[in-house]
Amino acid sequence: MTVYNFCAGPAMLPPEVMKKAQQEFLNWQNLGVSVMEVSHRAQPYLEMVKECEASLRRLMDISDEFEVLFMHGGGRGQFAAVPLNLHLDDAPGVYVENGIWSSGATKEGAKFTQVEGINIRTDVDGQFDIQPVEQWKLPEKASFIHFCPNETIDGIEIYDVPKHDAPIVADMSSMILSREINVDDFDLIYAGAQKNIGPSGLCIVIVRKTLLEREGLPRPAILDYAIEAKQGSMYNTPPTFAWYLANEVFQYLESIGGVKAMEAHNKKKAAILYDYIDSSDFYSNKVAKHCRSLMNVPFWLKDDTLNDKFLSEAEAAGLLALEGHRFVGGMRASIYNAMPVEGIEALVAFMDKFAKENS
Ligand SMILES: *Cc1c(COP(=O)(O)O)cnc(C)c1O
Repeated sequence: MTVYNFCAGPAMLPPEVMKKAQQEFLNWQNLGVSVMEVSHRAQPYLEMVKECEASLRRLMDISDEFEVLFMHGGGRGQFAAVPLNLHLDDAPGVYVENGIWSSGATKEGAKFTQVEGINIRTDVDGQFDIQPVEQWKLPEKASFIHFCPNETIDGIEIYDVPKHDAPIVADMSSMILSREINVDDFDLIYAGAQKNIGPSGLCIVIVRKTLLEREGLPRPAILDYAIEAKQGSMYNTPPTFAWYLANEVFQYLESIGGVKAMEAHNKKKAAILYDYIDSSDFYSNKVAKHCRSLMNVPFWLKDDTLNDKFLSEAEAAGLLALEGHRFVGGMRASIYNAMPVEGIEALVAFMDKFAKENS
């Protein structure tokens, strides 16, 4: 039986990459040892990380105005690193809130700096919706504007980017590399690796070089962008295996046509699933169409007493990890880059069969 893993994170990775990693697991680059067992300062490893950064720069078209850092502590590590590095004494960190992750970032930021939360949710009758970017009430003075383009739990995606004199910071943990973006529209992008990049723990940070001059607040060296930039993300021992696997994922992405091809693939997948849900009166999606996520598709059974039955039969059919987050209930299919169209087709076929058998 083919198994499809819809886990929100850590999530499935491309099978091609996993097979290659398995093949070279015990003998990386003919060194006779695993990539996990070599020094991060040894030549083969240094060459790998150089190529890894170059590949990500090609994939996202990142200019020389930006540093690319490979840091520890996943997405949440950056919830602390952002205010610690970007704090200004005379302006608040402004946090745009459209769901559970962006609110979490605000809460963490408040431990370190003055924060101002801007709620952009406009839900009516249990239907999720958000204000378009032009209507966000951003204050004039801000040390930075933080927002989350894809709310992984709520299934809400923001396709526009706000404009402001303050640096624009985006938590792209669950949508990086899923569609084309213009990096120049941002000043700091971060993404925990475990959704579209590789193993958890690693976090990619793309930061405008001019921001490295900010004094910020006293902070641990491992969360200091200027130190990490100066040290080539090797101030301390980096998560070497995660970094290696990220490189393999980037190389694979380039080989299949890059982010443009991936975006087409993702739009096709999401359309199949949303179209089916919208056409059904057994299931529903509560997110307004203009802000539906390409990566995380929450859906609800009209009769939620069938939830447990749905989940156990789905699992028996090889469709894993479809339970929604406890905060929003229902189901959630996370359909990141690595999920093939066949996985969506299998899910829709199962959902349709379940609906017919239970209505
Ligand atoms: C998964 C996720 C995180 C958290 O990442 P960790 O690596 O667990 O800290 C943060 N933000 C968003 C949007 C996420 O989807």
